[in-house]
Amino acid sequence: MVDATWGTGPAPRDVLGPVAGEPAFDGHRPPRRELVDDCVHCGFCLTTCPTYVLWGEEMDSPRGRIYLMKQGLDGEPMSDAMVQHVDACLGCMACVTACPSGVRYDRLIEDTRAQVERRHPRPPRQRLLREAIFALFPYPRRLRLLRVPLRAYQATGLQRLVTRSGLLPRLAPTLATLESLAPPLTRVPRPPRRVPARGPRRAVVGVLTGCVQGAFFPDVNAATIRVLAAEGCDVVVPPAQGCCGALSAHNGRDGQARGFARRLIDRFERAGVERVVVNAAGCGSSMKEYADLLRDDPRYAGRAATFAAKVRDLSELLVELGPVAPRHPLPVTVAYHDACHLAHAQGIRAQPRALLDGIPELDVREIADPEICCGSAGVWNVLNPGPAAELGDRKAADVLATGAQLLVTANPGCLMQVAASVRRLGGEIALAHTARVLDASIRGLPVTALLQPASSSR
Ligand code: SF4
Ligand code: SF4
Repeated sequence: MVDATWGTGPAPRDVLGPVAGEPAFDGHRPPRRELVDDCVHCGFCLTTCPTYVLWGEEMDSPRGRIYLMKQGLDGEPMSDAMVQHVDACLGCMACVTACPSGVRYDRLIEDTRAQVERRHPRPPRQRLLREAIFALFPYPRRLRLLRVPLRAYQATGLQRLVTRSGLLPRLAPTLATLESLAPPLTRVPRPPRRVPARGPRRAVVGVLTGCVQGAFFPDVNAATIRVLAAEGCDVVVPPAQGCCGALSAHNGRDGQARGFARRLIDRFERAGVERVVVNAAGCGSSMKEYADLLRDDPRYAGRAATFAAKVRDLSELLVELGPVAPRHPLPVTVAYHDACHLAHAQGIRAQPRALLDGIPELDVREIADPEICCGSAGVWNVLNPGPAAELGDRKAADVLATGAQLLVTANPGCLMQVAASVRRLGGEIALAHTARVLDASIRGLPVTALLQPASSSR
């Protein structure tokens, strides 16, 4: 039995990596052989895999990565090449959708990444960058503090100067990527702890405020709460939620992820809600997998399964409830972008489209190659700025080709990534989360409230 509390402290012994020639994986949650064996090597997943699309390398395809996992299970050591191919995966889960054999690549890559993270000694620069990322992004308070200098940077015109000089990408590419992704910041009050349902109560729901969503897109959380209340939900926003652990789980920091998951379960259990509503695709997909994440923890395994069964994406819950709040017309053409962790990881495609279709005068257009990731993928775009920009520019070109006035999606990472690429291509399109579009329609706001172009902020 694995120590259930392990994960908040150091790994059992392998923080310094395996001894040369030792098998790639130790006995602590290696990729499961039965899941590896489900792959019949048919190759149906290849053309939906963004890294295979970019580089055409078998080992940068889902099939190739599963083959590497099998080699590791068969006793091969963890080579630099193996780590490179595992690191290059975006975790977009397009392969899960494409696979006719139902291979759970999501679980395979998460377990493999945890082994890599514990057992592979990275070069100092990479290690420092990862440490910095994971000391910042999963901490809402630290992100909120970052808003202060970032707002000053944007408001004083310094950002415009830096962008025009073109120096930053040459001097500090990682910083340039982070800088290009930052959305324009405005002052938004913190969400209330409780908002009563408008009209008869139909459900009591808790809302996840999130890390990046809470710090950089508080308007999306505010819109989410208003929409839920308008649709008859008593809305609870539990305090001190912290991070859901998605970023950590998707990047092999499973100990950190388990710590965050336990804390979030505690907070929402105390709130006594019937449903846990999430408006960030990556967070929702991770929270629905808490039972697997905490499967070795006797104190939390059962509670994690109960919690996971309550988790709903905002669009999923609204369609389950059915609309009661009247919609006002929004005369606008919309391109709807499937966030990977909503479409591939949660299978949610129809619900956001149904909600948008329910708004009078709103016209939804489809984007070419919807299954291919925009290159955001959590912090993949920060760790791999070059290929991420390539994927982002492809997506932005497909988005602009729809001729839509507004791009709508359900993940903060996608919004930032596509906005940066639209700017790079010199295009113009406004961006909004699904929650903001529904909120504008329910409140009867003019369509101009949504039509601030992504390119006009700099
Ligand atoms: S998760 Fe995405 S990038 Fe990774 S192997 Fe699957 S399709 Fe390719
Ligand atoms: S589609 Fe599924 S079974 Fe076929 S190669 Fe890809 S992962 Fe394996």
